[in-house]
Amino acid sequence: MSTIRFDAIRETFNRKPAEVESKGKRSELFGSNVFNELVMRESLSKEAFKSVMEAIELGSRIDRKLADEIAAAMKNWALSKGATHYTHWFQPLTGSTAEKHDAFFEPVTNAYAVEKFGGDQLVQQEPDASSFPHGGIRNTFEARGYTAWDPTSPAFVYGTTLCIPTVFVSYTGEALDNKVPLLRALQAVDNAATDVAKYFDKNVTKVNATLGWEQEYFLVDKALAGTRPDLVLAGRTLLGHSPAKGQQLDDHYFGSIPDRVLNYMRDLEQECMLLGIPVKTRHNEVAPNQFELAPIFEEANLAVDHNSLLMDVMDKIADKHNFKILFHEKPFAGINGSGKHNNWSLSTNTGVNLLSPGSTPMKNLQFLTFFINTIKAVHDYEELIRASIASATNDHRLGANEAPPAIISVFIGSQLTKVLDELEDVSKGKLSPQEKTDLKLNVVGKIPEILLDNTDRNRTSPFAFTGNKFELRAVGSKSNCAKPMTVLNSIVARQLIDFKKEVDALIAKKELKKDEAIFNVLREYIKASKKIRFEGDGYSEEWEKEAAKRGLSNNKTTPTALKASISDKAVALYESLGVMNPREIHARHEIELEEYVMKVQIEGRVLGDIARNHVIPTAIRYQNTLIENVRGLKEVFGKDFEKHAKEQMDLITAISGHIAEINSMVNKMTDERRSANKIDSAQEKADAYCEKVLPYFEKIRYHCDKLELMVDDELWTLTKYRELLFTR
Ligand code: ADP
Ligand code: MG
Repeated sequence: MSTIRFDAIRETFNRKPAEVESKGKRSELFGSNVFNELVMRESLSKEAFKSVMEAIELGSRIDRKLADEIAAAMKNWALSKGATHYTHWFQPLTGSTAEKHDAFFEPVTNAYAVEKFGGDQLVQQEPDASSFPHGGIRNTFEARGYTAWDPTSPAFVYGTTLCIPTVFVSYTGEALDNKVPLLRALQAVDNAATDVAKYFDKNVTKVNATLGWEQEYFLVDKALAGTRPDLVLAGRTLLGHSPAKGQQLDDHYFGSIPDRVLNYMRDLEQECMLLGIPVKTRHNEVAPNQFELAPIFEEANLAVDHNSLLMDVMDKIADKHNFKILFHEKPFAGINGSGKHNNWSLSTNTGVNLLSPGSTPMKNLQFLTFFINTIKAVHDYEELIRASIASATNDHRLGANEAPPAIISVFIGSQLTKVLDELEDVSKGKLSPQEKTDLKLNVVGKIPEILLDNTDRNRTSPFAFTGNKFELRAVGSKSNCAKPMTVLNSIVARQLIDFKKEVDALIAKKELKKDEAIFNVLREYIKASKKIRFEGDGYSEEWEKEAAKRGLSNNKTTPTALKASISDKAVALYESLGVMNPREIHARHEIELEEYVMKVQIEGRVLGDIARNHVIPTAIRYQNTLIENVRGLKEVFGKDFEKHAKEQMDLITAISGHIAEINSMVNKMTDERRSANKIDSAQEKADAYCEKVLPYFEKIRYHCDKLELMVDDELWTLTKYRELLFTR
């Protein structure tokens, strides 16, 4: 009997929900481990407080002396929260977060020590960063990387460590992380959107991009997960036969949350409250053992930090509750995968959501302006959006018949489609008084009403308008939201800058009124961006054909999709906005290709190992039992034995067949991997892994899964799908 597997199952059956100590009312817990505005107001001098607030709002520099004061206040506050260490917390291009802890403690003599933390330590650090990916940016002569304080994201205490959110840049100031380009893109969209918003309200001085993500994940019992090398090393199952019952009945979705999981969620949510992550909703997802958690939206940089932090916290707390959390986009074949919807909008310092229709025709023209410009931006840069969500793991989800397709399109619902259709007919140049009135009353004026009862939802669209925000639904559950947010905010910034130029030109040249000029430009955008709009079933085959006809990209794999991120168009976009220079762009591309290769390489090795060292030996053990049995039958029945041993002999033959196939395929896969490893060019190597290595996974799996069905359940060493998915 396979003892590890059955021990794990027994252990899982005997588990009780872990205790969760209630720490108090959520409203009181909220943000209590965050060095936020309130704490700063109380602990800083007026001058220091003002300088932090200006750094947050205007990006101004903080004077060195004041930095010392802020550091001292931060240290005292952190010590009062039980912190013993501090760390610069950053997001290297590995996609996760990194930290190196230093103690506050510093001996002065051997009899006397102090807790020390000054402006120098707060503002800048030089982590030993040589092992973080840099894509060639840090050559040996400039090998240093620096982390620098990002005051727009508040410091927090997690466990016993004061964490200071920072950017990570090279000696030459080039981005080595996900945050720097994001901050630059957010600055660009702030500038561009503020300029356009001023058409409608002179009081607008700042526009924040807002992000509300929805995090999907799976929970598997820790003991069960521990029996699967693929889950441990690759975060997904590389083989396993589908259970008799999957998600066909849809009985998990919005069903009651199991107790063990509920306690996990309560524990997690309490920690989120302390850290100031405003989590709000939780529920079961479509697949068994799949769940979702979503916060209230925040300013995009903060929201990205919070999501990165959350994933780390989720992982740690899961362990406490004897779960392993799976963020992989497709942990189980044949079962829904996980995504991370990115809800996005723009919000002014005057408190207006620019993608929310208002109460007057002018407010609605403002809405339409931002709405149509966003659609136009997505139309012009759809391939770049696709590139921003590309990863080896998300490839298993996009276009796999359940998640948004690899084709980017925009869904807006039938009501807004009608509005855009009508706007398309606006006259060129000056508008007649009659037309103006008609637009005001019947087209623009009606928008809030129609949106109110707009329950139009299209779950198959990768980029859907949902009443007062767009929802980018194709983001992978594992990815750092900084990437898609950098692209989305950059392309909208670019678009709004161009829009303003065109409108201003029309006002100057043709002496059109402002609203006439806006209508004129929007009309052309509606026409020009039509092909990106799609209201039908995004998962259907017809859409794939239709999209091809329309000339939309359909980049199904990461190595192909990533090409768009170094296109001339992308380089021009990022350079014109100051988001990234060509060196940064190419470095990132290289890193992403390398990451792709590494992921597939690891999976290939793990699969080879499981197939050879778990599946085949188990199959042989069972086959030997069968052979013994046949031998016995022969002894008992003599030459008549075949009548009684037919099934067994067929099984013996079938098992041999599958073993032979697995062996030969693992050999071929290994050969392909070896030759791919010899390729120098990152692109060609990734292509080789994608086209030559990866296809063997399915073939090997097929034979392994067949063996799983044949072999005596008691002998099978790998925990089965039904056990992973239905034991909790
Ligand atoms: P749904 O029907 O899709 O669940 P919700 O209104 O519950 O819609 O919102 C889903 C997510 O969208 C939440 O994370 C929420 O915070 C976020 N969201 C709502 N409004 C905005 C906005 N203006 N900007 C960014 N995200 C938003
Ligand atoms: Mg949603």
